[in-house]
Amino acid sequence: MKTLDYLIVGQGIAGSILDFTLRKNGFHGVVVDNGHKDSSSKVGAGVINPLTGRKFVKSWQFDQIEPRARSVYDQFSKLIGFDIASPRNIIRILHQLKDENEWELRTTEKSTERFRVEVPDLEMYKEFIHKGEKYGELTGGSQVHMPVLIKAYQQFLKKYKFLVSEEFDYAALETNQECYEYKGLKVEYVIFAEGYKASQNPYFEDLPFRPAKGEALIVKIKDFSPSKILKQNLNLVPLGEGVFWVGSGFDQHFKDTQPSEAEKTRMTKTLDELLKVPYDIIDHISAVRPCTQDRKPLIGRHETHKNLFVFNGFGTKGASLVPYWAEALVRHINFKEPLPNSVNPYRHQAKEN
Ligand SMILES: Cc1cc2nc3c(=O)[nH]c(=O)nc-3n(C[C@H](O)[C@H](O)[C@H](O)COP(=O)(O)OP(=O)(O)OC[C@H]3O[C@@H](n4cnc5c(N)ncnc54)[C@H](O)[C@@H]3O)c2cc1C
Repeated sequence: MKTLDYLIVGQGIAGSILDFTLRKNGFHGVVVDNGHKDSSSKVGAGVINPLTGRKFVKSWQFDQIEPRARSVYDQFSKLIGFDIASPRNIIRILHQLKDENEWELRTTEKSTERFRVEVPDLEMYKEFIHKGEKYGELTGGSQVHMPVLIKAYQQFLKKYKFLVSEEFDYAALETNQECYEYKGLKVEYVIFAEGYKASQNPYFEDLPFRPAKGEALIVKIKDFSPSKILKQNLNLVPLGEGVFWVGSGFDQHFKDTQPSEAEKTRMTKTLDELLKVPYDIIDHISAVRPCTQDRKPLIGRHETHKNLFVFNGFGTKGASLVPYWAEALVRHINFKEPLPNSVNPYRHQAKEN
C-alpha cells in the first residue's frame, strides 16, 4: 500500500489553502470533505480589513499576515486562472462624535496612518444612500472571493483524484501504529480543518471553541456597482453587477444553523434606513464561524498522537489569517520550526493550571 504524506479533513478555506501550501512544498496527500455541508467559507464575505471594530483597532499581526495572504492568493489565482482577491477600499460611517474622535485618534497613529484616505470619496454611493453623517475611508483592505475559491479548488482536487467526498469517520482512523490508516489509505499525518464541526472530533473536542453564527442577505440593486465596501451596522460588500453581500450577525447562543426570520427583519430594517433606492433579496444565507475564546486560531499537534494536527479557530478572519498560518504549520511539519504559544491549541490549559 502506498503511503501518502497527509490527509486533511475539511475543504473550507483552511483545508484548501493548507493543501495548496503542502503541495507547493512537495507533499502528496488527499482531502476529505462532506460536500461543504457545514461550510463557513461558502457564506463569509472574505473581507480583509486593516482596522476593525468600533475602535478601529489594527487587526492582529496585520503587517505579517496581509503580505502573506496577498502572495498566496496571487499564486492561487494563477492556478485557477481567475483573480481570487480584489483590493477594496472600505468606507466607515461615523455615526456619532465619539466615532469621529476615535477615527481621528486611531488613524493618525504611526502604525495605522498609511491606511487612512485623507479625503473620503463617496461619489459612487451618492445617489444610492442617505447621507448626512461623517465618513472615513480606509485603503489596504481586500475581498477574497471565498465561495469561488472553494468551488475552484474542489474541481482541481477532483480532477487529480485528491478529494474524498464523504463524511470523515473518526472511528475508522487507526492511530495505534507508526503510519496511520484510514479506510485503506496509509498516511503519515492527519490534519483536521473541519471549521466549527471540530467540536465533534473526538481527538480535539475539548479545545476552547466559541462558535458564532452569522447570516447574510444577497441583494440586487439596479444600476449600482461600486468598488468600495461600505461598513455601517451592516457591511455592504459588492459582488459585481449590482449584487451585494449584506451582513452579518454574531450569535454565540444559536439554537440552529439556519437563516432566521428575526435576523432577516433586522438586516432589512437597517438596509431600508441606509438605502435611498429599492433592492431585491436574492438569497438569505447563514453559517457558523469557528471562533475561539481568545479569538486566536488553534494550530498544532495533538498532545499524545504526535502525527495528528489541528488547523482551525480562524473565527471572523479566515481570509486573512489562513495563508500565513498554513505556511507556518508546513514549516513546523517540514523543518520542526516551533509554532508560537499564541496559537497553541492547549494554551488555555496552561492558564487554568
Ligand atoms: C456570515 C459570515 C461572514 C463572514 N465574513 C468574513 C469576512 O468578511 N472575512 C473573513 O476573513 N472571514 C469571514 N467569515 C469567517 C470565515 O468564513 C471563516 O473564518 C472561515 O471560513 C473558516 O474556514 P474553515 O475552513 O476553518 O471552516 P469551514 O469553511 O467551515 O470549512 C470546514 C469544512 O469541513 C467540512 N467538514 C466538517 N466536518 C467534516 C467531517 N466530519 N467530514 C468531512 N468534512 C467535514 C465542512 O463541511 C466544510 O466544508 C465570515 C463567516 C460568516 C458565517
